[in-house]
Amino acid sequence: MTQPPINKNKQECPKCHGEMIRGFCSAHSLKGTYIEKWHKGEPEQSFWTGIKTPTSIGLPVSVFRCQNCGLLEFYADMKFST
Ligand SMILES: [Zn+2]
Repeated sequence: MTQPPINKNKQECPKCHGEMIRGFCSAHSLKGTYIEKWHKGEPEQSFWTGIKTPTSIGLPVSVFRCQNCGLLEFYADMKFST
């Protein structure tokens, strides 16, 4: 079974079939605010910074929120880089 292509801006809620609106989770660093990224594998603990900065670029994470029930769906895909 193949998944239908991700609609970049709108999804239908799998629970209540309400309208889901695209958003994102922001991450913060000393360099500013940026879109959260998905990385393969498990985070490595670092004594100084919480977790070690991943060496891979990672995939931008987009989050859809149902306007009706509040369900969140996370997608990590290069198409969400803009
Ligand atoms: Zn819903």
